[in-house]
Amino acid sequence: MPLIVTGSIGIDSVEAPTGTAEQVLGGSSIYFAAAASYFGPVRVVGAVGEDFPEPFFNTFNHFKIDTEGIEKRAGSKTFRWHGKYHDNMNIRDTISVELNVLAEALPPVPMNYGDSKHIFLANTDPTSQMTLLNSFPNRTLAIADTMDLWINTQREALLELLKQLDGLVLNDSEAILLTGDTNLIRAAEAIEKLGPQFVVIKKGEHGSLLHHADGQVALPAFPAREVVDPTGAGDSFAGGMMGYLASLAEDQTVTLHDLKRAMAYGTVVASYNIEAFSLDRLMNVSRADLDRRFETFQTMLKLES
Ligand code: AMP
Repeated sequence: MPLIVTGSIGIDSVEAPTGTAEQVLGGSSIYFAAAASYFGPVRVVGAVGEDFPEPFFNTFNHFKIDTEGIEKRAGSKTFRWHGKYHDNMNIRDTISVELNVLAEALPPVPMNYGDSKHIFLANTDPTSQMTLLNSFPNRTLAIADTMDLWINTQREALLELLKQLDGLVLNDSEAILLTGDTNLIRAAEAIEKLGPQFVVIKKGEHGSLLHHADGQVALPAFPAREVVDPTGAGDSFAGGMMGYLASLAEDQTVTLHDLKRAMAYGTVVASYNIEAFSLDRLMNVSRADLDRRFETFQTMLKLES
């Protein structure tokens, strides 16, 4: 069944040591959906404003993203984000965020989306995340992402959401912000006490860490010679991860083994995404490209005895 996601659908402006991109397509749910589309169908629920450029829909079509759940709202403006990367591109400053339509109610979930079993709540306000989640009481798997803005401004709503989740995916700095613990293992344990059964902590160029009742997984990032724009790395990681999980048998309980493979696919999709601005690189990456890099990653990780 198609995977479903809500999150931001944005117009981004990005400054990086490698160049700039003005008013390009971005948003957490879009990076997520493009990445997940390599593994199966994806549905997006969210709103854009009347200023949303029509050509961006061509990109959605390229990835075969189901856009029936995207509402172009008259009288509203699209979410906008402007970020600037330091010379060390692990560090970025948010120059401005205009929530605009993201601060309004989520559009209704189309009736025919009711059969989705895998729900991903990409970065957006926790109230919208909860609204989508509540529309799928018979879900198989619900995972969410969050970020500093929501931890700082909507902590109570986020804590309510955490109680309902199977898994949480977030950055190292956000795990520290959420729990107050600078040790990532202890931070993951503290998050699990708040609800999710597993936690995936993204560490940028240092890879990712899974904490789960059955064990832990630590994966490096795929070694990158040239990083052009890290924007959306976290979302495309989550998209590859969740896309892979949604492609498994529907009634299958997600195991540590599944999650490890899923994280490896997420790592590989993210490694392509950062090679160009916006979705430009993923537009030219095929499933065969992904599988080839996945095999290289597997070989790289093998520890001979
Ligand atoms: P990432 O680099 O994975 O953190 O994701 C960057 C994307 O998230 C950009 O395309 C932004 O449009 C979007 N974004 C930035 N801030 C927020 C926010 N507070 N809520 C939702 N999406 C955001």
